Amino acid sequence: MFHDNNGLFLTDAQLAVDVRRRQPRAFISHAHADHIARHELALATRATARFYHHRLGNQHRVREMVFGQPVEFGGLQLTAYPAGHCLGSAMLLARNDQQSLLYTGDFKLGPSATSEPAEVPKADILVMESTFGRPQYRLPPREHVIDQLLETITGALAAEKTPVIHAYALGKAQEVTKLLTNHGFAVLQHPLIYATSQLYLELGVDLGNVAEYVETAPAGHVVITLPRSMRKFRLPGLERTLSIATTGWAVDPSTKYRWDVDVAIPLSDHADFDQLVDTVRRAEPQEVICTHGPAEFADHLCELGFNARPLKPPKQKRLF
Ligand SMILES: [Zn+2]
Repeated sequence: MFHDNNGLFLTDAQLAVDVRRRQPRAFISHAHADHIARHELALATRATARFYHHRLGNQHRVREMVFGQPVEFGGLQLTAYPAGHCLGSAMLLARNDQQSLLYTGDFKLGPSATSEPAEVPKADILVMESTFGRPQYRLPPREHVIDQLLETITGALAAEKTPVIHAYALGKAQEVTKLLTNHGFAVLQHPLIYATSQLYLELGVDLGNVAEYVETAPAGHVVITLPRSMRKFRLPGLERTLSIATTGWAVDPSTKYRWDVDVAIPLSDHADFDQLVDTVRRAEPQEVICTHGPAEFADHLCELGFNARPLKPPKQKRLF
């Protein structure tokens, strides 16, 4: 039903799935850079289509999918389900006469301030993203993480510092913004983040008291900028800052040093280890194919009684 050709393909429909190079027809689960290319025809939800066009230009053809509404495509029935990763992010359920396959894309279970909550349908084959596929990547309860974020911000402002949060421009930045404005904080966003937030607004997600960062941050404001790994993260005019990363990797205490920030908070838009296992249980698959994670996650699923393997076999270790 599927094959791997430097990326996942649904064989019957000749449909590429989140493949990073140009394809005649491709499903795009969400518009993060590692999931998109300038395809001839893309299948995507309305929100993802909007973000895809924003990033790569309006000329690219999209067939829009609506969550829960099946479409016939190349001999398959295709249905998008919310993935909870960013606004519009989708899992893809594909069916032919014999089998069904669920591709999760990047996903997260549980509540979100700005994304549709994930739904996991049952499928014969589950192809799942397993970024946090090691047991040490169990995240604290979301309420505790949000409390940690709010306390960190409150402490920084009390010390007359400007909290500067590093977050991806699509998804995490809007989630953090909404969590903060819900609690009465005023947020200023990096211009590239603000442009994406305007699309959230067009798509019906109001982020509250947020404005574009211009030249300086008045006292009492929280600034959200790009991750430090991105070239344009620096904003001129900021002094006395407390830098904060928001990432699931923050459960690893070395993260704040590796990311070069003052504080790292484990707010994730990816499923943690327990959510990954929970997702397999919900989908009740006969076969699990793991992508984007450690090969040992498949071994762990096998120990739990599932038939699991990585999409790409792990490289053989040299014996001598
Ligand atoms: Zn993503």
